[in-house]
Amino acid sequence: MIARFAPSPTGPLHLGHAFSALAAYEAAREAGGTFLLRIEDIDQSRARPHWEAQIYDDLRWLGLTWPEPVMRQSDRLPAYRVALERLWTRGLLYPCSCRRRDIEEAASAPQEGAAPVVGPDGLVYPGTCRNRPRSGDMPEDALRLDMRNALKDIDIILFMETGAGPGGETGEIRIPRHTLIHGIGDIVLARRDMGTSYHLSVVLDDAAQGVTHVHRGQDLFAATAIHVLLQRLLGLPVPLYHHHRLIRDEAGKRLAKRDDARALAKYRAEGKSPEEIRAMVGLG
Ligand code: GLU
Repeated sequence: MIARFAPSPTGPLHLGHAFSALAAYEAAREAGGTFLLRIEDIDQSRARPHWEAQIYDDLRWLGLTWPEPVMRQSDRLPAYRVALERLWTRGLLYPCSCRRRDIEEAASAPQEGAAPVVGPDGLVYPGTCRNRPRSGDMPEDALRLDMRNALKDIDIILFMETGAGPGGETGEIRIPRHTLIHGIGDIVLARRDMGTSYHLSVVLDDAAQGVTHVHRGQDLFAATAIHVLLQRLLGLPVPLYHHHRLIRDEAGKRLAKRDDARALAKYRAEGKSPEEIRAMVGLG
């Protein structure tokens, strides 16, 4: 059993991160498994070394240990490229030069009266660049997954949820082709500025690290269909997924990176103990 915590060093860890990390750590310990830490720093415009250092420091303070060296996504760009080349060669990717505003305009243009659909990755892409050429060398552009093509031989995506999605979804989760095409659509697998994407990297890294159990917040439940589809397309094992409740503030709003008020570092500076942090996230 291998579990992991995969924070992005783009801000301070807050109570929600502490809950995720502790949940994965304890699941690994109870199963006699391994807990891994991975630094998700593909967004080099936002990742900062001091946030990474603070992650290590906060997690050690909470009492967590992990094998070194940790995997860092910024070291893995060649591996992401290999996977993209495979998908490109199979004609499953196409280049896209739409800007956000182009997509908003095209998606809201009246199309048989259908309202624009928002999926786990934002607005479902209206398909503007879908007919651009896909042969020859893979271009240095944003690359989208051609969802219809990707699903040619796949009717349904299945995974096991041992926690629960935001609507209480649990057990065997089934996502039919229709939902993938119309509710998720042609997602970006390589951003122009990164050469990869969260979805592609997370799937390749979980497989490369042999992760068997993914613990993370319910906000990522809807993205899991994308991850399991990519695992199918790339011939990778499907881990078990455990989505947990989100830690909210007093107003019921989920905590965000910019929520410095609930940063672990702040509680530490105020003299709180790791036990008190556990109690605050309901781990007693
Ligand atoms: N890096 C992501 C985050 O910090 C989590 C990715 C995952 O657990 O799949 O929100």
